[in-house]
Amino acid sequence: MFRIILIFLFVIFVNMSEGVFAFDIVYPKKDNVTINADKTFFIGNEQICKSLKINGQPVILHQSGGFKHTVHLDYGVNSFVIDNGADKKVYKIVRPAKSVKTAKERKFIHYGSEKIIKTSSQNVPLRSSPVDAGLNRLQHLQKDIELVAIGEYGDFYKVRLGRDDTAWISKSNTQISDSKEFVLGVIKSTSSYEDDDFRYYKFTVDKKVPYVLSESGLNGYNLVLYNMSDELYNFGKYEFNISQKGKNFGYSAYYNDENELIVKIRKYKSSLKGLKIVIDPGHGGSERGAIGCLCDAEKDVNLAIALKLRNKLQKLGAEVLLTRADDKYLGLQERVNFTNENNAQMFVSIHNNALADSQADKEAKGTEVYYFYSQSRYLAKVISKMLSSEIGFNNRGAKGGSFAVIRNSECPAVLIEVGFMIDPDENSKLINSDFQEKIADGIIKGIEKYFKEVDMEIILGK
Ligand SMILES: [Zn+2]
Repeated sequence: MFRIILIFLFVIFVNMSEGVFAFDIVYPKKDNVTINADKTFFIGNEQICKSLKINGQPVILHQSGGFKHTVHLDYGVNSFVIDNGADKKVYKIVRPAKSVKTAKERKFIHYGSEKIIKTSSQNVPLRSSPVDAGLNRLQHLQKDIELVAIGEYGDFYKVRLGRDDTAWISKSNTQISDSKEFVLGVIKSTSSYEDDDFRYYKFTVDKKVPYVLSESGLNGYNLVLYNMSDELYNFGKYEFNISQKGKNFGYSAYYNDENELIVKIRKYKSSLKGLKIVIDPGHGGSERGAIGCLCDAEKDVNLAIALKLRNKLQKLGAEVLLTRADDKYLGLQERVNFTNENNAQMFVSIHNNALADSQADKEAKGTEVYYFYSQSRYLAKVISKMLSSEIGFNNRGAKGGSFAVIRNSECPAVLIEVGFMIDPDENSKLINSDFQEKIADGIIKGIEKYFKEVDMEIILGK
Protein backbone atom coordinates (compact mmCIF):
# COMPACT_ATOMS: atom_id res chain seq x y z
CA MET A 1 0.00 0.00 0.00
CA PHE A 2 2.79 2.40 1.02
CA ARG A 3 4.53 1.63 -2.23
CA ILE A 4 1.40 2.47 -4.18
CA ILE A 5 1.14 5.82 -2.39
CA LEU A 6 4.79 6.53 -3.16
CA ILE A 7 4.25 5.80 -6.84
CA PHE A 8 1.16 7.99 -6.76
CA LEU A 9 3.11 10.86 -5.18
CA PHE A 10 5.89 10.40 -7.70
CA VAL A 11 3.41 10.62 -10.57
CA ILE A 12 2.00 13.85 -9.11
CA PHE A 13 5.50 15.26 -8.68
CA VAL A 14 6.45 14.46 -12.29
CA ASN A 15 3.24 16.12 -13.53
CA MET A 16 3.93 19.20 -11.43
CA SER A 17 7.42 19.57 -12.76
CA GLU A 18 5.95 19.42 -16.29
CA GLY A 19 4.07 22.61 -15.51
CA VAL A 20 0.84 21.89 -13.68
CA PHE A 21 0.92 25.50 -12.55
CA ALA A 22 1.22 26.89 -16.04
CA PHE A 23 -1.45 28.61 -18.05
CA ASP A 24 -2.00 28.59 -21.80
CA ILE A 25 -1.68 31.77 -23.79
CA VAL A 26 -3.43 31.13 -27.10
CA TYR A 27 -3.02 34.69 -28.36
CA PRO A 28 -0.55 36.40 -28.93
CA LYS A 29 0.77 33.23 -30.53
CA LYS A 30 4.27 33.69 -29.10
CA ASP A 31 6.50 35.97 -27.09
CA ASN A 32 8.17 38.87 -28.89
CA VAL A 33 5.56 39.56 -31.55
CA THR A 34 5.07 42.83 -33.37
CA ILE A 35 1.54 44.23 -33.25
CA ASN A 36 0.80 47.43 -35.12
CA ALA A 37 -2.16 48.64 -33.04
CA ASP A 38 -2.73 50.65 -29.86
CA LYS A 39 -4.24 47.63 -28.13
CA THR A 40 -4.40 43.87 -28.21
CA PHE A 41 -5.65 41.06 -26.00
CA PHE A 42 -4.35 38.05 -24.17
CA ILE A 43 -6.54 35.04 -24.91
CA GLY A 44 -6.06 31.70 -23.22
CA ASN A 45 -6.95 29.58 -20.21
CA GLU A 46 -5.91 29.01 -16.63
CA GLN A 47 -7.08 25.66 -15.29
CA ILE A 48 -5.33 25.12 -11.96
CA CYS A 49 -4.85 28.16 -9.71
CA LYS A 50 -8.01 29.97 -10.84
CA SER A 51 -6.40 33.33 -10.29
CA LEU A 52 -4.43 35.27 -12.81
CA LYS A 53 -2.95 38.75 -13.08
CA ILE A 54 -1.46 40.55 -16.05
CA ASN A 55 0.81 43.43 -14.94
CA GLY A 56 -0.96 43.34 -11.58
CA GLN A 57 -4.44 43.65 -13.11
CA PRO A 58 -6.78 40.77 -12.21
CA VAL A 59 -7.93 38.76 -15.23
CA ILE A 60 -11.58 37.67 -15.27
CA LEU A 61 -11.66 33.90 -15.60
CA HIS A 62 -14.68 32.12 -17.05
CA GLN A 63 -15.82 28.92 -15.31
CA SER A 64 -14.28 26.98 -18.20
CA GLY A 65 -10.93 28.56 -17.31
CA GLY A 66 -10.95 30.66 -20.49
CA PHE A 67 -10.11 34.36 -20.51
CA LYS A 68 -9.83 37.37 -22.81
CA HIS A 69 -7.98 40.35 -21.37
CA THR A 70 -7.49 43.59 -23.30
CA VAL A 71 -4.26 45.56 -22.86
CA HIS A 72 -3.04 48.94 -24.15
CA LEU A 73 0.14 49.11 -26.25
CA ASP A 74 2.63 51.99 -26.22
CA TYR A 75 5.09 52.58 -29.05
CA GLY A 76 8.20 50.44 -28.66
CA VAL A 77 8.58 47.41 -26.40
CA ASN A 78 5.71 46.57 -24.03
CA SER A 79 6.33 44.06 -21.24
CA PHE A 80 3.58 42.02 -19.66
CA VAL A 81 4.04 39.87 -16.58
CA ILE A 82 1.46 37.09 -16.44
CA ASP A 83 1.26 35.62 -12.99
CA ASN A 84 -1.05 32.99 -11.48
CA GLY A 85 0.69 32.99 -8.07
CA ALA A 86 2.58 29.79 -8.84
CA ASP A 87 3.97 30.42 -12.28
CA LYS A 88 5.07 33.55 -14.08
CA LYS A 89 5.71 34.36 -17.72
CA VAL A 90 6.92 37.57 -19.29
CA TYR A 91 5.61 38.50 -22.74
CA LYS A 92 7.13 41.24 -24.84
CA ILE A 93 5.04 42.88 -27.56
CA VAL A 94 6.57 45.40 -29.92
CA ARG A 95 4.45 48.21 -31.33
CA PRO A 96 6.34 49.78 -34.26
CA ALA A 97 6.98 53.52 -34.17
CA LYS A 98 4.54 55.73 -36.06
CA SER A 99 5.45 55.43 -39.73
CA VAL A 100 5.93 58.63 -41.67
CA LYS A 101 3.66 58.39 -44.68
CA THR A 102 5.71 58.90 -47.81
CA ALA A 103 3.02 57.76 -50.22
CA LYS A 104 2.77 60.22 -53.06
CA GLU A 105 -0.38 62.25 -53.13
CA ARG A 106 -2.87 60.89 -55.61
CA LYS A 107 -5.09 62.98 -57.76
CA PHE A 108 -7.42 62.38 -60.66
CA ILE A 109 -5.85 62.85 -64.08
CA HIS A 110 -8.27 63.62 -66.91
CA TYR A 111 -7.02 62.36 -70.27
CA GLY A 112 -6.82 64.86 -73.13
CA SER A 113 -7.35 62.01 -75.57
CA GLU A 114 -9.29 58.99 -74.39
CA LYS A 115 -7.77 55.49 -74.39
CA ILE A 116 -9.46 52.41 -75.77
CA ILE A 117 -8.75 49.58 -73.33
CA LYS A 118 -10.06 46.03 -72.90
CA THR A 119 -10.34 43.56 -70.04
CA SER A 120 -7.35 41.20 -70.03
CA SER A 121 -8.63 38.44 -67.75
CA GLN A 122 -11.84 36.73 -66.64
CA ASN A 123 -14.02 37.94 -63.77
CA VAL A 124 -12.75 41.54 -63.80
CA PRO A 125 -14.56 43.74 -61.24
CA LEU A 126 -16.18 46.90 -62.60
CA ARG A 127 -16.41 49.22 -59.59
CA SER A 128 -18.30 52.29 -58.46
CA SER A 129 -15.18 53.80 -56.81
CA PRO A 130 -11.38 53.52 -57.36
CA VAL A 131 -10.83 51.26 -54.34
CA ASP A 132 -9.98 47.58 -54.26
CA ALA A 133 -12.17 46.81 -51.23
CA GLY A 134 -15.66 47.01 -49.86
CA LEU A 135 -19.03 46.73 -51.53
CA ASN A 136 -18.25 48.70 -54.70
CA ARG A 137 -18.44 45.93 -57.32
CA LEU A 138 -21.04 46.65 -60.02
CA GLN A 139 -20.37 43.64 -62.20
CA HIS A 140 -17.71 41.06 -63.04
CA LEU A 141 -16.72 41.25 -66.70
CA GLN A 142 -15.21 38.61 -68.92
CA LYS A 143 -12.03 38.91 -70.97
CA ASP A 144 -11.82 41.09 -74.12
CA ILE A 145 -14.57 43.59 -73.35
CA GLU A 146 -13.65 47.02 -74.72
CA LEU A 147 -14.04 50.17 -72.62
CA VAL A 148 -13.15 53.85 -73.02
CA ALA A 149 -10.82 55.22 -70.32
CA ILE A 150 -11.35 58.95 -69.78
CA GLY A 151 -8.88 59.37 -66.94
CA GLU A 152 -7.08 57.68 -64.09
CA TYR A 153 -6.72 57.74 -60.32
CA GLY A 154 -3.93 55.73 -58.79
CA ASP A 155 -4.15 52.16 -60.06
CA PHE A 156 -7.58 52.62 -61.63
CA TYR A 157 -8.95 53.82 -64.96
CA LYS A 158 -12.13 55.84 -64.96
CA VAL A 159 -14.25 54.44 -67.80
CA ARG A 160 -17.24 55.91 -69.56
CA LEU A 161 -20.41 53.84 -69.70
CA GLY A 162 -23.03 55.05 -72.17
CA ARG A 163 -23.20 58.82 -72.51
CA ASP A 164 -23.37 59.99 -68.89
CA ASP A 165 -22.39 57.12 -66.59
CA THR A 166 -18.90 56.20 -65.42
CA ALA A 167 -17.22 53.41 -63.42
CA TRP A 168 -13.73 52.30 -62.39
CA ILE A 169 -11.60 49.36 -63.40
CA SER A 170 -8.16 48.26 -62.16
CA LYS A 171 -5.37 48.97 -64.67
CA SER A 172 -3.86 45.57 -63.87
CA ASN A 173 -7.00 43.83 -65.22
CA THR A 174 -6.85 45.63 -68.57
CA GLN A 175 -4.64 46.24 -71.60
CA ILE A 176 -4.62 48.84 -74.38
CA SER A 177 -6.86 47.65 -77.23
CA ASP A 178 -5.66 47.40 -80.84
CA SER A 179 -8.82 49.16 -82.06
CA LYS A 180 -8.15 52.56 -83.67
CA GLU A 181 -11.72 53.71 -83.20
CA PHE A 182 -14.28 52.86 -80.54
CA VAL A 183 -17.35 51.26 -82.12
CA LEU A 184 -20.72 51.43 -80.35
CA GLY A 185 -22.93 48.34 -80.02
CA VAL A 186 -26.18 47.42 -81.78
CA ILE A 187 -28.54 44.61 -80.78
CA LYS A 188 -29.26 42.22 -83.65
CA SER A 189 -31.83 40.01 -81.91
CA THR A 190 -33.18 38.87 -78.55
CA SER A 191 -34.79 35.63 -77.42
CA SER A 192 -35.63 33.69 -74.27
CA TYR A 193 -35.96 30.04 -73.24
CA GLU A 194 -36.00 28.00 -70.04
CA ASP A 195 -35.20 24.67 -68.41
CA ASP A 196 -36.16 23.18 -65.03
CA ASP A 197 -33.89 25.46 -62.99
CA PHE A 198 -33.37 28.65 -65.01
CA ARG A 199 -34.88 31.15 -67.37
CA TYR A 200 -32.46 32.42 -70.01
CA TYR A 201 -32.48 35.68 -71.98
CA LYS A 202 -30.24 35.92 -75.00
CA PHE A 203 -29.01 39.23 -76.48
CA THR A 204 -27.14 39.05 -79.75
CA VAL A 205 -24.98 42.19 -79.91
CA ASP A 206 -22.58 42.99 -82.75
CA LYS A 207 -19.71 43.39 -80.23
CA LYS A 208 -19.05 42.54 -76.58
CA VAL A 209 -20.21 45.66 -74.74
CA PRO A 210 -19.95 46.21 -70.97
CA TYR A 211 -23.10 45.49 -68.99
CA VAL A 212 -24.44 45.54 -65.45
CA LEU A 213 -27.05 43.05 -64.25
CA SER A 214 -28.52 44.02 -60.89
CA GLU A 215 -31.53 43.36 -58.73
CA SER A 216 -34.35 45.81 -59.13
CA GLY A 217 -36.39 45.59 -55.97
CA LEU A 218 -37.19 42.20 -54.53
CA ASN A 219 -38.73 40.32 -57.41
CA GLY A 220 -36.78 41.19 -60.48
CA TYR A 221 -33.67 42.27 -62.27
CA ASN A 222 -32.44 45.12 -64.39
CA LEU A 223 -29.96 44.60 -67.23
CA VAL A 224 -28.18 47.58 -68.77
CA LEU A 225 -25.97 47.26 -71.84
CA TYR A 226 -23.60 50.24 -72.13
CA ASN A 227 -21.71 51.88 -74.96
CA MET A 228 -24.58 51.22 -77.36
CA SER A 229 -25.37 53.32 -80.42
CA ASP A 230 -26.79 56.60 -79.10
CA GLU A 231 -28.77 57.05 -82.30
CA LEU A 232 -30.74 53.91 -81.47
CA TYR A 233 -30.72 53.93 -77.64
CA ASN A 234 -31.28 56.82 -75.22
CA PHE A 235 -28.06 57.96 -73.55
CA GLY A 236 -26.20 55.08 -75.25
CA LYS A 237 -27.84 52.55 -72.91
CA TYR A 238 -30.08 49.58 -73.60
CA GLU A 239 -32.17 48.66 -70.56
CA PHE A 240 -34.13 45.46 -70.01
CA ASN A 241 -36.29 44.53 -67.01
CA ILE A 242 -36.84 40.95 -65.94
CA SER A 243 -39.52 40.02 -63.43
CA GLN A 244 -39.16 37.10 -61.04
CA LYS A 245 -41.86 34.87 -59.58
CA GLY A 246 -41.06 34.55 -55.88
CA LYS A 247 -37.91 35.85 -54.22
CA ASN A 248 -34.80 36.67 -56.25
CA PHE A 249 -32.90 33.40 -56.15
CA GLY A 250 -29.67 33.75 -58.07
CA TYR A 251 -28.55 35.20 -61.38
CA SER A 252 -25.58 35.62 -63.67
CA ALA A 253 -24.73 37.08 -67.06
CA TYR A 254 -21.96 36.13 -69.47
CA TYR A 255 -21.00 36.13 -73.14
CA ASN A 256 -21.06 32.69 -74.75
CA ASP A 257 -18.65 31.54 -77.46
CA GLU A 258 -20.84 33.18 -80.14
CA ASN A 259 -20.50 36.57 -78.36
CA GLU A 260 -24.15 36.45 -77.33
CA LEU A 261 -24.90 37.86 -73.89
CA ILE A 262 -26.78 35.27 -71.84
CA VAL A 263 -28.68 36.31 -68.71
CA LYS A 264 -29.41 33.35 -66.47
CA ILE A 265 -32.13 33.72 -63.82
CA ARG A 266 -32.61 30.93 -61.28
CA LYS A 267 -36.24 30.01 -60.70
CA TYR A 268 -37.43 30.39 -57.12
CA LYS A 269 -37.70 27.15 -55.18
CA SER A 270 -40.17 27.64 -52.38
CA SER A 271 -39.28 24.94 -49.82
CA LEU A 272 -36.53 23.09 -48.04
CA LYS A 273 -37.78 19.77 -49.37
CA GLY A 274 -35.68 18.85 -52.39
CA LEU A 275 -33.53 21.98 -52.00
CA LYS A 276 -29.97 21.45 -53.19
CA ILE A 277 -27.91 23.18 -50.51
CA VAL A 278 -24.14 23.48 -50.12
CA ILE A 279 -22.82 23.67 -46.54
CA ASP A 280 -19.31 25.07 -46.37
CA PRO A 281 -17.31 24.56 -43.15
CA GLY A 282 -14.85 27.48 -43.14
CA HIS A 283 -11.05 26.96 -43.21
CA GLY A 284 -9.51 23.47 -42.88
CA GLY A 285 -6.15 21.69 -42.99
CA SER A 286 -3.25 24.10 -42.50
CA GLU A 287 -5.70 27.01 -42.22
CA ARG A 288 -7.00 26.78 -38.66
CA GLY A 289 -9.09 29.97 -38.53
CA ALA A 290 -9.60 31.62 -35.13
CA ILE A 291 -8.29 29.85 -32.03
CA GLY A 292 -10.53 29.62 -28.98
CA CYS A 293 -9.55 30.32 -25.37
CA LEU A 294 -9.27 26.58 -24.68
CA CYS A 295 -7.04 26.03 -27.74
CA ASP A 296 -9.76 24.65 -30.05
CA ALA A 297 -9.41 25.58 -33.73
CA GLU A 298 -12.28 27.27 -35.55
CA LYS A 299 -11.90 24.86 -38.51
CA ASP A 300 -12.87 21.90 -36.25
CA VAL A 301 -15.83 23.69 -34.66
CA ASN A 302 -17.09 24.77 -38.11
CA LEU A 303 -16.87 21.19 -39.39
CA ALA A 304 -18.65 19.71 -36.36
CA ILE A 305 -21.54 22.16 -36.78
CA ALA A 306 -21.68 21.54 -40.55
CA LEU A 307 -21.92 17.75 -40.13
CA LYS A 308 -24.78 18.09 -37.63
CA LEU A 309 -26.52 20.59 -39.91
CA ARG A 310 -26.17 18.19 -42.85
CA ASN A 311 -27.78 15.30 -40.96
CA LYS A 312 -30.73 17.41 -39.85
CA LEU A 313 -31.28 18.96 -43.29
CA GLN A 314 -31.19 15.54 -44.94
CA LYS A 315 -33.92 14.34 -42.58
CA LEU A 316 -36.04 17.28 -43.75
CA GLY A 317 -35.64 16.18 -47.37
CA ALA A 318 -32.93 18.60 -48.53
CA GLU A 319 -30.15 17.43 -50.83
CA VAL A 320 -27.01 18.46 -48.93
CA LEU A 321 -23.50 18.76 -50.30
CA LEU A 322 -20.47 19.60 -48.14
CA THR A 323 -17.48 21.47 -49.57
CA ARG A 324 -15.37 19.47 -47.12
CA ALA A 325 -16.40 16.57 -44.86
CA ASP A 326 -13.02 16.20 -43.17
CA ASP A 327 -10.05 18.26 -42.10
CA LYS A 328 -8.52 19.36 -45.39
CA TYR A 329 -7.42 22.64 -46.92
CA LEU A 330 -9.74 24.08 -49.58
CA GLY A 331 -9.26 27.37 -51.46
CA LEU A 332 -12.05 29.94 -51.69
CA GLN A 333 -12.42 29.58 -55.47
CA GLU A 334 -12.66 25.79 -55.11
CA ARG A 335 -15.60 26.28 -52.75
CA VAL A 336 -17.31 28.62 -55.24
CA ASN A 337 -16.67 26.30 -58.20
CA PHE A 338 -18.03 23.33 -56.26
CA THR A 339 -21.23 25.27 -55.53
CA ASN A 340 -21.80 26.45 -59.09
CA GLU A 341 -20.76 23.19 -60.79
CA ASN A 342 -23.25 21.32 -58.62
CA ASN A 343 -25.94 23.86 -59.49
CA ALA A 344 -26.66 24.49 -55.79
CA GLN A 345 -29.79 26.45 -54.89
CA MET A 346 -28.46 27.77 -51.60
CA PHE A 347 -25.00 28.26 -50.08
CA VAL A 348 -24.30 28.46 -46.34
CA SER A 349 -20.77 28.95 -45.04
CA ILE A 350 -20.15 28.20 -41.36
CA HIS A 351 -17.59 30.27 -39.44
CA ASN A 352 -16.83 31.47 -35.94
CA ASN A 353 -15.54 34.89 -35.09
CA ALA A 354 -12.55 36.74 -33.67
CA LEU A 355 -11.49 40.40 -33.65
CA ALA A 356 -8.45 42.24 -34.97
CA ASP A 357 -6.01 43.72 -32.42
CA SER A 358 -7.19 47.25 -33.20
CA GLN A 359 -10.71 46.21 -32.11
CA ALA A 360 -9.57 44.55 -28.89
CA ASP A 361 -11.77 46.86 -26.78
CA LYS A 362 -14.92 46.15 -28.83
CA GLU A 363 -17.61 43.74 -27.70
CA ALA A 364 -16.92 40.26 -29.00
CA LYS A 365 -20.22 38.49 -28.43
CA GLY A 366 -23.05 37.30 -30.64
CA THR A 367 -24.17 35.96 -33.99
CA GLU A 368 -23.80 37.79 -37.29
CA VAL A 369 -24.56 36.70 -40.85
CA TYR A 370 -22.99 38.18 -43.99
CA TYR A 371 -24.46 38.57 -47.48
CA PHE A 372 -23.18 40.22 -50.64
CA TYR A 373 -26.17 40.44 -53.01
CA SER A 374 -29.43 41.94 -51.81
CA GLN A 375 -31.16 38.68 -52.79
CA SER A 376 -29.37 37.08 -49.82
CA ARG A 377 -30.03 39.86 -47.30
CA TYR A 378 -33.33 38.50 -46.06
CA LEU A 379 -31.91 34.98 -45.70
CA ALA A 380 -29.00 36.43 -43.68
CA LYS A 381 -31.41 38.41 -41.55
CA VAL A 382 -33.70 35.53 -40.62
CA ILE A 383 -30.84 33.10 -39.98
CA SER A 384 -29.16 35.62 -37.65
CA LYS A 385 -32.45 36.23 -35.85
CA MET A 386 -33.57 32.61 -35.48
CA LEU A 387 -30.11 31.20 -34.73
CA SER A 388 -29.22 33.79 -32.08
CA SER A 389 -32.56 33.32 -30.32
CA GLU A 390 -32.26 29.52 -30.44
CA ILE A 391 -28.83 29.54 -28.78
CA GLY A 392 -29.29 32.64 -26.58
CA PHE A 393 -26.55 34.75 -28.21
CA ASN A 394 -26.80 38.48 -29.06
CA ASN A 395 -28.21 39.09 -32.52
CA ARG A 396 -25.67 41.28 -34.32
CA GLY A 397 -27.81 40.95 -37.44
CA ALA A 398 -27.28 40.74 -41.20
CA LYS A 399 -24.27 42.60 -42.58
CA GLY A 400 -23.07 43.30 -46.11
CA GLY A 401 -19.63 41.82 -46.72
CA SER A 402 -17.50 41.31 -49.82
CA PHE A 403 -16.30 37.75 -49.18
CA ALA A 404 -15.30 35.64 -52.19
CA VAL A 405 -17.47 32.65 -51.25
CA ILE A 406 -20.70 34.67 -51.09
CA ARG A 407 -20.18 37.06 -54.01
CA ASN A 408 -19.56 34.47 -56.74
CA SER A 409 -22.30 31.94 -56.09
CA GLU A 410 -25.28 31.80 -58.49
CA CYS A 411 -27.78 31.31 -55.64
CA PRO A 412 -28.67 32.93 -52.30
CA ALA A 413 -25.44 32.74 -50.31
CA VAL A 414 -24.65 33.64 -46.70
CA LEU A 415 -21.70 33.36 -44.35
CA ILE A 416 -22.62 32.71 -40.71
CA GLU A 417 -20.39 33.76 -37.82
CA VAL A 418 -22.11 31.74 -35.11
CA GLY A 419 -20.23 33.22 -32.16
CA PHE A 420 -16.82 34.38 -30.93
CA MET A 421 -14.06 31.85 -30.32
CA ILE A 422 -12.20 34.52 -28.35
CA ASP A 423 -15.05 35.08 -25.89
CA PRO A 424 -14.60 32.62 -22.99
CA ASP A 425 -18.33 32.05 -22.48
CA GLU A 426 -19.31 31.68 -26.15
CA ASN A 427 -16.21 29.58 -26.83
CA SER A 428 -17.08 27.09 -24.08
CA LYS A 429 -20.52 26.65 -25.67
CA LEU A 430 -19.38 26.51 -29.30
CA ILE A 431 -17.16 23.49 -28.61
CA ASN A 432 -19.97 21.59 -26.87
CA SER A 433 -21.55 18.85 -28.98
CA ASP A 434 -25.11 19.30 -27.62
CA PHE A 435 -24.85 23.04 -28.16
CA GLN A 436 -23.72 22.42 -31.75
CA GLU A 437 -26.98 20.48 -32.30
CA LYS A 438 -28.87 23.59 -31.18
CA ILE A 439 -26.83 25.73 -33.55
CA ALA A 440 -27.87 23.44 -36.42
CA ASP A 441 -31.52 23.69 -35.28
CA GLY A 442 -31.30 27.49 -35.20
CA ILE A 443 -29.87 27.71 -38.72
CA ILE A 444 -32.64 25.43 -40.01
CA LYS A 445 -35.31 27.55 -38.31
CA GLY A 446 -33.88 30.54 -40.16
CA ILE A 447 -33.99 28.79 -43.53
CA GLU A 448 -37.54 27.58 -42.89
CA LYS A 449 -38.63 31.12 -42.00
CA TYR A 450 -37.03 32.39 -45.20
CA PHE A 451 -39.23 30.07 -47.25
CA LYS A 452 -42.35 30.59 -45.17
CA GLU A 453 -42.60 34.35 -45.12
CA VAL A 454 -43.96 36.46 -47.91
CA ASP A 455 -41.85 39.16 -49.47
CA MET A 456 -44.04 41.84 -47.92
CA GLU A 457 -42.08 41.50 -44.71
CA ILE A 458 -38.88 42.40 -46.49
CA ILE A 459 -40.48 45.54 -47.90
CA LEU A 460 -41.66 46.58 -44.46
CA GLY A 461 -38.20 45.85 -43.10
CA LYS A 462 -39.47 43.88 -40.15
ZN1 LIG B 1 -13.53 31.86 -40.14
